[in-house]
Amino acid sequence: MEEMKLESILLPGVDPQRPIVIAGPCSAESEEQVMETAKNLAAKGIKIFRAGIWKPRTKPGGFEGIGVIGLPWLKKVKEETGMYVATEVANKDHVFEALKAGVDILWIGARTTVNPFAVQEIADALRGVDIPVLVKNPVNPDLELWIGAFQRLYGAGIKRLGAIHRGFSSYDKKIYRNLPLWHIPIELRRRMPNLPIFCDPSHIGGKRELIAPLCQQAMDLSLDGLMIESHCNPDAAWSDAAQQITPDVLDYVLNLLVIRESNQ
Ligand code: PEP
Ligand code: MN
Repeated sequence: MEEMKLESILLPGVDPQRPIVIAGPCSAESEEQVMETAKNLAAKGIKIFRAGIWKPRTKPGGFEGIGVIGLPWLKKVKEETGMYVATEVANKDHVFEALKAGVDILWIGARTTVNPFAVQEIADALRGVDIPVLVKNPVNPDLELWIGAFQRLYGAGIKRLGAIHRGFSSYDKKIYRNLPLWHIPIELRRRMPNLPIFCDPSHIGGKRELIAPLCQQAMDLSLDGLMIESHCNPDAAWSDAAQQITPDVLDYVLNLLVIRESNQ
């Protein structure tokens, strides 16, 4: 494969300084929850809002996402706060619906990155569209599969690419929900030096108290950004309650970070 000539994922007005922050709830639940969280995050200077509309759940019977009725809420976030909005897509229908609703940034979830058919379907649905696409690592520690997803998207003409390190599934969940295995994103950076890499401490840690130290580790390793789950009422969240933090706590965590000169 030829070397990828990537373009910036930075949308106008987003500060290129580390860390670039994407924050918002695991799931969009109601218009009120989305708007309250978004307004509080915007007040803290967050420029990119995330919310899952379609949720891949390990077992059936859980909350599988609010679906298309939540997309107008994201549009309202854009209109009322000026933030950019990002959501997860797992198939071509999600892509078409998200594009139609004006979603600014798409991401591919860890359970989708493992599936080359699904990634190719998403890539094909995005042919001719200029939108930043972030790819989470596959649930299993397979760097080639992660790189293969970038190649599929790049092959469809998507040049604004970024990676999200969200840790790797393991049977032992004593400390982390997903093992960080930091050497894998580091090796990704060596292989694709122009690819911005975000860390998702929420899904690595699986619990609130691990967010701050994981964010600091990501910054110490010179990663570019952070994707952090934030909810206006974390204990009442419909998914991933234990790992979400309020916008106030998020702001506190970000202010504690020590950002050293990049040592790449
Ligand atoms: C999420 O971002 O809420 C999510 C489902 O993450 P992952 O794909 O990393 O499990
Ligand atoms: Mn989540």
